[in-house]
Amino acid sequence: METISRRKFVTDSMKVVAATAMVAPLMNTEVYAAAGAFQFTQVALPYDYKALEPHIDAMTMEIHYTKHHAGYVKNVNAAIAAEKISYSTEKDFFANASKLSSKAKNNSGGAWNHNFFWQVMKPNGGGAPSGKIADAINGSFGSFEKFKEEFTKAAMTRFGSGWAWLVNDNGKLKIGSTPNQDNPMMDISELKGTPLLGIDVWEHAYYLKYQNKRNEYVAHWFNLVNWDEAAKRLG
Ligand code: MN
Repeated sequence: METISRRKFVTDSMKVVAATAMVAPLMNTEVYAAAGAFQFTQVALPYDYKALEPHIDAMTMEIHYTKHHAGYVKNVNAAIAAEKISYSTEKDFFANASKLSSKAKNNSGGAWNHNFFWQVMKPNGGGAPSGKIADAINGSFGSFEKFKEEFTKAAMTRFGSGWAWLVNDNGKLKIGSTPNQDNPMMDISELKGTPLLGIDVWEHAYYLKYQNKRNEYVAHWFNLVNWDEAAKRLG
């Protein structure tokens, strides 16, 4: 009895091994990230594609989220696996951006920046901030109007593709911009700090509705600012 069941066990085990061997070549076509390595995920969009109209149109949102952003997330995770990048936190990942391949750097920025971008906007947002974020803005820029002026300038003077940011640099708020998908948490960035707000000024973010008129897109974008989120990130 014991012998039979042991034989059966061995036979069954061999079937499992055989089955595994059969599927293994297929599985090997995907490269898996090292255990414990940080990987990027795409946040669920906190509202639907048409929720930010008339400032950002539904088609732009859908393409931006499902094609551009999804692509960055897929590509950075592929790079993490293929290049065996093993940073365990997002913070370490960006602090070592200078050591990353172009693929890992550009797509990690693209993944993170868009997750952030969706969250710092909301339908019926905008207006002037209140509370501690208003105090911090007034303290750093003099007034809300001055802040808007400086932020708009950063967004308008970024040549080509990139982002404009409001960051908290150890209690001091700063405005600046980064090229491509760089962000202020990367060691290669001239602008340093914790992002509180950011605007994507790549043409894919506005071209369908605004064509070459980036100024109109930026002016409209202020109607979407999620000040509660910025305040939360200020801490
Ligand atoms: Mn974008």
